[in-house]
Amino acid sequence: MSAGDPASLVRPHLREVEPYTTARSSHTGGLLLDANENRLGTLVPELGEDLNQYPDPRTPELRSALADRLSVSEGELWIGNGSDEGIDVLLRALVDPGDAVAVVEPTYGVYRTRARTYGADVRRALLDEDLRLDVEAAAGAAAGAKALFLCSPNNPTGTRLSREGILELADRVDALVVADEAYVEYAGGPSLAGEVRADRNLAVLRTFSKAWGLAGARVGYLAAPAPLVPYLDLAGLPYPVSKLSSRAAVRTLERSDEMERRVAAVREERERIAARLREMGLRVLPSESNFLLFFVGDPGRVQGRMASEEDVVIRNRSDLPRLDGALRVTVGRREENDRFLEALERTLDQLPDAAGGAGGRP
Ligand code: PMP
Repeated sequence: MSAGDPASLVRPHLREVEPYTTARSSHTGGLLLDANENRLGTLVPELGEDLNQYPDPRTPELRSALADRLSVSEGELWIGNGSDEGIDVLLRALVDPGDAVAVVEPTYGVYRTRARTYGADVRRALLDEDLRLDVEAAAGAAAGAKALFLCSPNNPTGTRLSREGILELADRVDALVVADEAYVEYAGGPSLAGEVRADRNLAVLRTFSKAWGLAGARVGYLAAPAPLVPYLDLAGLPYPVSKLSSRAAVRTLERSDEMERRVAAVREERERIAARLREMGLRVLPSESNFLLFFVGDPGRVQGRMASEEDVVIRNRSDLPRLDGALRVTVGRREENDRFLEALERTLDQLPDAAGGAGGRP
């Protein structure tokens, strides 16, 4: 295992596995009697005449559209069932029970859960007290690990980690640095996908679930060093993306102007909500994503009353390290945001002792 040789991180066992070739790997035209499909057709042709047939496992149309958009080669992409599956497939390719995986908390919980599922020893570093990337702490946790997960902009803080710090870690540690950019469109800065190289320990996770508005279709992808991608294919399933989902993703990519307009609208609303929360005397983290993290004295009671009395559901994230008192709210439509703000104001009036103290109102 060494920095700059991503394929050396693959589970030794996986190197011996012969790839399964699907019926659709070699022939996609002619009279296709090779895959035991139903030749009489689908019962729901209104959703696509060709749904009786398996998709091309390479999802060529989506692959080519993504490669163009991200300026990566098609061989640097693995596409699957949401970026959650991207996390999972990386771990399946890299981790044997007992291998170490590093996470930098507070962050998205799926890295830990999936890593534990595969028997990894999960090592934890913390963001610094200002919730910024602490390169030394992350490098320490990643020493000897197979993967280091970094989320930027980070869920649930909404803050971005330093690009230079992430690249420094990729060049410095032996682990594969996985930069999860689920919310990158809201941040406005460039993606790290263009920094992926065959000899650099960096993979970038992206998704259609957030800015692209396609969470229900479950499409996510990894830009990963080309030598690693065949192992991701091997660790993944034969047909990683359904025809319905890849079609939805391709059509969605054609509407990038509208995506950008909506991102701008969300950002504007995000700043409006943040300003209101600050006027209420609450601490709010500056966000570069489509949600805000703010702090109250008793987040459990505030979240509970919001749900039971106001029918407004927000997420209590106060159990995570450094996030004492934290509640997370997704930025919605303008009228939804107003409803949230009014509900929160009423809640803090009703529960004055739950607003302040600990991480909340001074
Ligand atoms: N990464 C982060 C940071 C997320 O917040 C989420 C969704 N909450 C995901 C990955 C997974 O997204 P999906 O599987 O829908 O692509």
